[in-house]
Amino acid sequence: MGKAVTNIETNNLTDIRIKNRVEALYKIIEEANKEFGIIRKKCSHSKCEVNYYCWAVGHISIKKICKICREVIGNPSEEELSYFNDTLGLLNKNK
Ligand SMILES: [Zn+2]
Repeated sequence: MGKAVTNIETNNLTDIRIKNRVEALYKIIEEANKEFGIIRKKCSHSKCEVNYYCWAVGHISIKKICKICREVIGNPSEEELSYFNDTLGLLNKNK
């Protein structure tokens, strides 16, 4: 019984360390996201590419993305989309 209590206490200590580290990491992510917002406002988005964009786990769209700051600019035009698809087609044929 006494040993079980010790194990629980050890687990609790580990839980506290994990919780504290997770909280610290979320804070870092929050700070990084703030800086992304600030720095991306300064970017002229002068060089963009059409590429796959994963906006959530298991959800992928084809978007126009800035090559400098990696901000999603929007949806590609029909022309850009067909060029992207044609290029992929060529790559697949060469395999
Ligand atoms: Zn940009």
